[in-house]
Order: sequence, then C-alpha cells, then structure tokens
Amino acid sequence: TRPNPRNASRTDARGATNLARVRSLFPALGQEIHGKPLIYLDNAASTQKPRPVIDAIVQYYEADNANVHRGAHALSDRATAAYERARETTRRFLNARRAEEIIFVRGTTEAANLLAQTFGRQNVGQGDEVLITELEHHANFVPWQQLCLEKGARLRALPINERGELQLEALDAMLTPRTKLVAVAHVSNALGTVNPVKAVVEAAHRRGIPVFIDGAQGLPHAGVDVQELGCDFYAFSGHKIYGPMGVGVLYGRLGLLESMPPWQFGGDMVHTVGFDRTTFGDPPYRFEAGTPNVAGAVGLAAALEFLESVGRDRIADHEAQLLGLAVQRLNEIPGVRIVGEPAQRAGVVSFVVDQPPMSALDVGTRLDAEGIAVRAGNHCCQPLMGRLGVAGTVRASFALYNTTDEVEQFAAALRSVVGVPP
Ligand code: PLP
Repeated sequence: TRPNPRNASRTDARGATNLARVRSLFPALGQEIHGKPLIYLDNAASTQKPRPVIDAIVQYYEADNANVHRGAHALSDRATAAYERARETTRRFLNARRAEEIIFVRGTTEAANLLAQTFGRQNVGQGDEVLITELEHHANFVPWQQLCLEKGARLRALPINERGELQLEALDAMLTPRTKLVAVAHVSNALGTVNPVKAVVEAAHRRGIPVFIDGAQGLPHAGVDVQELGCDFYAFSGHKIYGPMGVGVLYGRLGLLESMPPWQFGGDMVHTVGFDRTTFGDPPYRFEAGTPNVAGAVGLAAALEFLESVGRDRIADHEAQLLGLAVQRLNEIPGVRIVGEPAQRAGVVSFVVDQPPMSALDVGTRLDAEGIAVRAGNHCCQPLMGRLGVAGTVRASFALYNTTDEVEQFAAALRSVVGVPP
C-alpha cells in the first residue's frame, strides 16, 4: 500500500486532466446522491461502466443481434463473429494459448460451480481433499464444501495470519496425496490481500495438483497472464472490470477441459443427439449450453479493451496511490481500526469503528447520506469474519476513476461520523 514514487507525475496537471477525461467516460459518476456528488467506493462489489462498454452493448442490440452458431443468415453470422471476437479478445487479455480455453459463464460464482460439478465430481472421491483458504469469498467456498459433502471428501482451509495473509509456510504440509484441487483467491475481496498465487501454483504443481484461481478481485487490479502464472483454471466477472453484469469467464487449460464432462445439457453443446445416446461438443462449447449472453460477451470484451487503453500498470499505480492515502487517513482517525494489514494489498481497505462503537451498517448508512458509497457487512466471507473476530466491516474499494480528492472527502466524512474534529 506504499505509494509508488512513480506516481508523482499523476498529481501534476496532465495526470489530473487524464483522470478527468477517464471519469468523463463514466456517465454514472456524474450524478448526485442525497444532494451530494456521488463518491463511489464500492468498486469491489461492482464497478461503473464506461461509455465504450455501454456503446458496444447498444451497438450490438441495434445492429447485430441474432442467435449465434446456427443461423444461415447474415445477422446470425455477425452475432457469431462478435461473440467469437469477444472470446479472442479475452484470450489475448489473459494470454491464454487457445480461444478454446475461454468459457463464457455468468460470473465467477458460476465458474466455480461449473468446475465443482465437472472437474470436481469427476476427480474428487471419498476421503479426498480440496484445499481452499480462510480468505475465500463464499463463491469459492460453498461449491467446494457442497461437493465435499456429496462425495464424503474433506474441505481444508489454508490458515491466515493476524495480518490477513496466507500462511504459505503451512501449505506444503496441507498438500497431501489426497488433495485433488487447490482453490484460492487471487486477491481477497474483504481485506485486499494479494495472495502469492504463483507460489501456491508451484507448490501444488510439484505434487501434480491442479489449481483454480478466483480472479474476481485479481483481474481488476493486478491483471493476469495465465501462462506466466501457470494456473490450471482462472475465473473473473465482467461487472467487476467495468463490463456488464451476467457475464464472466472461466479459463481452463485445454487438456483439462477436454477431459471434463459437461455440466448443463441442451442446445449448442452437443455433436449428435439420438434417442439412445448423445455425444458432446468440444470445449468451450461443451460448457456453454443454450443461447449465450452475446451482448454480455461483447460488453466484456469492450471493457477489457478499455482497460488496456488506460493501461494496466497505470491503473495499478493509481489505485495503489489511492489505497495508500486511504490507509494513512484511516489510521489517523482515533476509534477507527483497519482490519487486516497485509504487506501486499490491492483495491480494498476494510475497517471497523470501535470508538464510539458503531455497526458497519450504521457507518455505511451515514456515509451514504453524504453521497459516499461503501460496503458494510461480511462481504460474503462469513468464515473469514469469524476467524478475524468481527461481525462485519466497512469496506472502501477503489477503481481507476477514483481521485485523491474523493479519498480525502471520504476520510473527512468518516471523521464527522465518528465525531472526531477535522
Ligand atoms: N470471488 C470474489 C473474491 C469476489 O469478490 C466475488 C464477488 O464479490 C465473487 C467471487 C463472486 O463474483 P460474482 O458475484 O460476480 O459471481
């Protein structure tokens, strides 16, 4: 969370102009809430959408809409081309080897469920183990828990330390001959911890164990190169990277995808269908039954292109600067306690108000009255909250369009909520 010295240029006039230009592309940011200019700090839950994404979706519906992969007409060809172009854009963004490795799903939650019900059902048996971590979002927890319950397998969780970091030193001992999969978040949505996913992949692969990475919070802040990372599966949600809701991606290594059975059955995922027998298509279509969310895929690809046009390093630097400032300001407010102090943090800072004692919801509601949107609650991480001994936290999360001025206003509003003089 230390500000990067290279950020100095961002505070100069050109940096401010660039940021103003980026902000102007997001129509939703220009509004007032309760008579105050919106300060949107709930980006880990969902980001706002830039004009190029909105335009791509409108353009698709206005000009190219038809069902894909089956029409003998021009519009269907155009829709199919747009859908497959979106797959190729995603492949390029993730640096996957093949477009067939990109499966469009509804989001990270659906990706984890798909994996649990295909790879999981096929490979996890009685007495086997699935290793997750104490940091996981329910989306990368409950599907594995339910699979283990169904199969008589054991769900184990790599512990965290007091700072909210994974205890990597415990990993080797927890990888056993019974471990069939490791499922770990790239970045924690509750604490912002950037997990050492590459080290996790390497440790698991030394034992031949595949690794699924929940990239819902990783991709927006850190980007990813799946070949460099070496993971077997990686998932993310469109709506958290400035794209539409209802679409996301599961990346899988082709060899593994080819060995996995389908999970939903119907049109588009079959080769031949007879009364006695059906044969299934190859990946990715084997895993994309029914009419896909073509406009969603088109919007998601537009979002990835938008991210690239702004620049991944620039985004990471800018967000690190905002986060560093937020952590500093929160630490200056008596009675406010930051939850989790990971050395590597991205996008998110969580805190509670101890003095005067206030619930996270109360703090969130009072910030909302000032036009400031934050998250309050357990962040779909009930096991983690239990481990940290808190009922919930207030979470501020940052995106490429947030400004240092917004962070200062957030800190000032929080001081007022807590009753600390400016
Ligand atoms: N994993 C993490 C780390 C998340 O933060 C989220 C959403 O908050 C999810 C998974 C689930 O994503 P979605 O609701 O888009 O499926």
